[in-house]
Amino acid sequence: MTRTAVRPHVSITDHETKTPGAQMDAFETFVRHAPFAAALVDNAFRLTAVSPDWESHGLSPDLHIGDDFRRALFNPEDVDSLERCVAFGEPFSRYRAISLNGAESRIWRTEFAATLTETGRTLAVIVTARDVSGYAETALKAERDQQRLKMALELDELMVREYDLRTGEIYCSGTSPELEKWCLFKDDPLEIVHPDDREKMAELVRNRKDGEAQVFEFRLNRDDGVETWVRSVGKKFLGADGKPERLVNLFKDITDRRRHTEAVENLAFKDSLTGLPNRAYFNRKFQEAVDASEMMGELFGLIMIDVDHFKDINDTLGHDAGDALLKRLAEMLHAAFRAGDTVARLGGDEFAVILRGLHSEADMMRPVNALQDLLRRPIEHGGRSFSVSASIGAALHGDPDADPSHMIKNADIALYRAKDEGRNRSVVFDPSMRSALEQRVELLRDVRAAIAAKEFVLYYQPIVDIASHSVSGFEALMRWDHPEQGVLTPDRFLAAFEDQDLSLKLGDMAFETALKQMRDWLDQGVEFGRVAVNISAAQFRSGRLAEEVQDRLKRWNVPCERLTIEVTENVYMGWGSEMVSETVRQLHRAGVMIALDDFGTGYASLANLRQFPIDRLKIDKSFVQNAEDAAIVKAVITLGSSMGMKVVAEGVEDQAQLDALADYGCDQIQGYHFSRPMPAGMVPGFLERFGE
Ligand code: C2E
Ligand code: CA
Ligand code: CA
Repeated sequence: MTRTAVRPHVSITDHETKTPGAQMDAFETFVRHAPFAAALVDNAFRLTAVSPDWESHGLSPDLHIGDDFRRALFNPEDVDSLERCVAFGEPFSRYRAISLNGAESRIWRTEFAATLTETGRTLAVIVTARDVSGYAETALKAERDQQRLKMALELDELMVREYDLRTGEIYCSGTSPELEKWCLFKDDPLEIVHPDDREKMAELVRNRKDGEAQVFEFRLNRDDGVETWVRSVGKKFLGADGKPERLVNLFKDITDRRRHTEAVENLAFKDSLTGLPNRAYFNRKFQEAVDASEMMGELFGLIMIDVDHFKDINDTLGHDAGDALLKRLAEMLHAAFRAGDTVARLGGDEFAVILRGLHSEADMMRPVNALQDLLRRPIEHGGRSFSVSASIGAALHGDPDADPSHMIKNADIALYRAKDEGRNRSVVFDPSMRSALEQRVELLRDVRAAIAAKEFVLYYQPIVDIASHSVSGFEALMRWDHPEQGVLTPDRFLAAFEDQDLSLKLGDMAFETALKQMRDWLDQGVEFGRVAVNISAAQFRSGRLAEEVQDRLKRWNVPCERLTIEVTENVYMGWGSEMVSETVRQLHRAGVMIALDDFGTGYASLANLRQFPIDRLKIDKSFVQNAEDAAIVKAVITLGSSMGMKVVAEGVEDQAQLDALADYGCDQIQGYHFSRPMPAGMVPGFLERFGE
């Protein structure tokens, strides 16, 4: 230890007085009047003088002038230090906590400094004391903060990286050795970022404002290829010159969390069958598109896709085929739309696409047409190949005054229209479609209520045999006996026949009513011949129609030979035609007559229909009533007869039409010429009059 001679700061040395004794007197006076805590100890350790502050702060209680100061020191080390101070002039300092009259204890720093004579002998030791409680607290607090920070770094396995922007030096600290391994010894802060994430990071870093903390998540650049996700909070600190000086980053390994969130997000936002985003994700993306459109007037499109007759595919080919189809469709959607478009499966066979940043309707329709092209290719499944089609509704949001949140409804309306127009097509929404749809929704609601209120009845229209001029039977036609609007024909509620649920209910009702009526007429001895009941496509879907019809006939005890079912060619040609064919065959075997309705309006040719057991061919009234179609009518009659079918002409309104048809060899006639459809109660009277 160096020997330092410390002279009192305040020199009160009387330069005239050279004797130590005189100097001591001067010290004594100085210490006694000092405005701070001070004590004077002579070279024999005696307390020579104290300042009033020293006494009042209780720095050496019970110690009087002349007492040995070493008694006030308690601690043997301090005694030792004081002795050394006197012997060699070595200064020292101590901290002491002193509590006065039970008050909160204060911390004092006492400093011991020897005053030496010119010969190097210790004259006295001046002890001063400063209350350093405030400072000590700050120091203590800083130390505790440091501890806490360290603990946080440890607990959270954080790593701190400090990058000196001027020298390029990198300093790392923390408790994540794994991270540290990949973060040290890099020349550039971006080098630790996985090459795939680097560009994104660089972009973020470029946009970072000095002094602003920024959070990034990126993958670590590891030579061993192990995927490690890191979350970084970074901040650039400025130097005294106002220029960026240091870049400080806190890194944390978030690989586990990331995997966990990904798994959760996959569960929450992905459809497990197709791997496409689900409805929840779609809703989120849709809201983003709406926001962007509202804020920046961005043009965006929404496309709704519905697989045609998906239910039939599932029912006839099985769920495996259905699943395969949906997966295949997901692939087609990927191929047709841009990577940035949101393609989602909303549920079942319903898909949707959000297209952002469009310039025109053509931008939206291009991928839609591409999709329709892809759909034309057959799908292979389980060694079989089958074809599908889809109905597509599209809506474009460009009108700044319109509410973009209506987009979903608009696209739905367009989709509805596409299905309504015969499916396998794309329709772009137009505002005029909305009212049509609203009317339809209202109608279906009213029909539902009318079924419950039993407002639907059957009217009967006679079918007359030309050769024998007798009534061969009646066609049962549905009427809505509307309490306000009177008796309505099906053209007022045709939509109900196209609704799966309602058409089943109406079909059920028609069968039940017709059979009950036949039973009544049989009981009453009314000779009505046969009653023809119209069947809609939906009624075939259950696959149990044949059994149901036969059960009903048995229940009402009506012979099969009394019933005809009328099926349109479109039902034969549509989806699940195998099932239709089987049902019809079964009924035919049982003795039910099968009539092919509205022949000529669809796409079927008689050759196509050869495989089905058809007893009657009904030529649609549009041909019968149009004189220009005479040649067609004639050809159909000839062909039908040659195939062993009886031919019925519908919509015969006058004698001239009747004569022409008779001339062509038509077998039976149905039309206003003989009678309009009539309520059941009028049938017996009609039959009586007709026979006359
Ligand atoms: P549809 O099966 O072709 O029935 C014949 C339609 O032609 C009936 O119309 C009938 O009233 C009408 N008609 C008959 N003779 C003439 C005529 O000389 N001139 C004119 N202009 N029309 C004539 P309606 O009763 O309005 O039925 C329309 C369609 O509604 C039916 O066409 C049928 O497709 C459907 N429909 C009626 N009842 C049922 C039913 O119970 N079930 C099902 N699924 N569909 C039904
Ligand atoms: Ca019919
Ligand atoms: Ca018809």
